[in-house]
Amino acid sequence: MHDYLVIGGGSAGCVVAAELARREAGTVMVVEAGPSEHHPLVSIPFGLIWLLGSRRDWAYRSAPMHAVGGRTIAIPRGRMVGGSGAINSMVWFRGRRSDFDGWNVPGWAWSDVEPAFEAVEIHLKPSRMDDPHVLTKGLASMLGAKGQTIPTPEYESAGVVTNNVVRGRRNSAATAFLRPRTEVEVRTGCEVDALIWSGDRVSGVRLVDGGEIKAAKGVVLSSGSIGSPSILMRSGVGPQDHLSRLGIDARIEAPEVGENLHDHPGTGLHFEGSGTGYGLELAQWPAWAWAPFRYVLTRTGRLASPTVEGSAFFNARGDDAEPDVQSHFIPFYLDWQGRKYPLKSGYFADVCLCRPKSRGSLRLMSKEARAAPIIDLGLLRDDSDLETLTAGIERLRALLAKADFGPRRAVEAHPGPDVTGTALKDHIRGNAGTAYHPVGTLRLGGPVTARLRVDGTENLWVADASVMPQVTSANTNAPSMMIGWKAAEFIAEDAAWKGPDQNKPCWAVTRIWPKPMPHARSSNEWSMGWMTTGSMT
Ligand SMILES: Cc1cc2nc3c(=O)[nH]c(=O)nc-3n(C[C@H](O)[C@H](O)[C@H](O)COP(=O)(O)OP(=O)(O)OC[C@H]3O[C@@H](n4cnc5c(N)ncnc54)[C@H](O)[C@@H]3O)c2cc1C
Repeated sequence: MHDYLVIGGGSAGCVVAAELARREAGTVMVVEAGPSEHHPLVSIPFGLIWLLGSRRDWAYRSAPMHAVGGRTIAIPRGRMVGGSGAINSMVWFRGRRSDFDGWNVPGWAWSDVEPAFEAVEIHLKPSRMDDPHVLTKGLASMLGAKGQTIPTPEYESAGVVTNNVVRGRRNSAATAFLRPRTEVEVRTGCEVDALIWSGDRVSGVRLVDGGEIKAAKGVVLSSGSIGSPSILMRSGVGPQDHLSRLGIDARIEAPEVGENLHDHPGTGLHFEGSGTGYGLELAQWPAWAWAPFRYVLTRTGRLASPTVEGSAFFNARGDDAEPDVQSHFIPFYLDWQGRKYPLKSGYFADVCLCRPKSRGSLRLMSKEARAAPIIDLGLLRDDSDLETLTAGIERLRALLAKADFGPRRAVEAHPGPDVTGTALKDHIRGNAGTAYHPVGTLRLGGPVTARLRVDGTENLWVADASVMPQVTSANTNAPSMMIGWKAAEFIAEDAAWKGPDQNKPCWAVTRIWPKPMPHARSSNEWSMGWMTTGSMT
């Protein structure tokens, strides 16, 4: 019996668990389906390419989607302590200020979330790569004077990204928050099936293997945008007709559970050329052979690369308006023909929409926890998304042509510079993937209140990316961790004010609020982007 159970030890889950413990809200246990994060491929930044599709990845696939030619696409999700933040490219962007103001939810405006970002960053220590590839260094020049800044979604900008890598090792929410708090118990290999109810209160969780774990004060769902709505629906909270079709007793009619699913759609350009980016061409074999020694000795080199080294934000149509697309730059040759070890070199850059209009939904396949849910990302369902992506690819080509890549410039090999106009639209429909940023299935102001409590319950909260009403304009790890921080703040405040066994005066909570460190940077200084398209998997 613990006071709080945090279901899922991912980006947000690690933060909320550690912060609940630090604030002395009660005893905390993290219940995680996957294994621990203790594996060299997790800590070595380049290791992520082997984690995709491994036992540390839920490796979901979407349902066939009409607007992308009936294709299904890969939806990787981290399945270990650290969650998707232990499998990701470590790109660190808070998002755009207006993203949070635009959520229009009390307590979540930019001025409300900024202190939480600052508090998270004191632990995460995001910084720019020590030795990016020379191509990545050249990226900033593609925007002329505007490029000479740290990339940010606030305005047109390009350059080397900031990432949560410290001394050449991934610094995830698990490393930075959870593990230092040794008083938090972490149970791995425990997949939660459903919640156990006592009236409107949740008294614990039932595991897939039939075991049960009790909670004295409450349960926090931090299983991510796919896991959290699935657990809720299996527990009888969701659209009533859907639940009754599956034979699940509906407890709380919540028609919006699983709705509003969206992600950043994207598609990329592949460049190929000997002596350009990193790759497996013969001439680079000595460098690859030396790479592990260099990494061990200096924590630098190609193994210290988180793959996405650069990013750019720009307006797809070149209007003098705010950026509507983000590009991720990977100075590695990415194959598009299904070969595992292509003997080539080159680089890759994509275009993703900052604020897609299309929406999808998530439904259960069956009431069995082991059955993967039906995930319809609704990719490109809104025609304007395809228009903006097409314009974005055309502008990316023009901008990359201006970048100072010197003798390392490669030629566009896929889809090829002749693919434009209608042919480019067809290409995008046939190849678009996402940045792996699904959000929104339990949006704030919908099934979840502004204080992150599941509407209609007393002691059940959600803290993960699923609560974002709209995806932020850049990568979603930082906002997910910010949400974890805010959740701990709300839950600890509720415990201090309302708990019948609480003798502490409420000032005890405010007193332990961490003061911003003198070196905490201003909001504009952090920014970076990550991602791959479907073509990377
Ligand atoms: C391959 C990849 C690359 C990415 N790159 C970047 C990047 O570079 N920068 C960036 O900002 N964002 C990136 N993202 C996105 C970012 O990592 C996520 O938005 C963020 O980690 C989401 O955090 P979360 O807490 O919502 O969920 P997660 O971190 O996914 O955590 C959910 C946790 O819950 C566990 N869980 C799920 N179901 C159950 C269950 N039934 N019982 C028990 N436990 C359960 C999972 O195993 C997992 O540990 C990437 C994502 C992926 C997959």
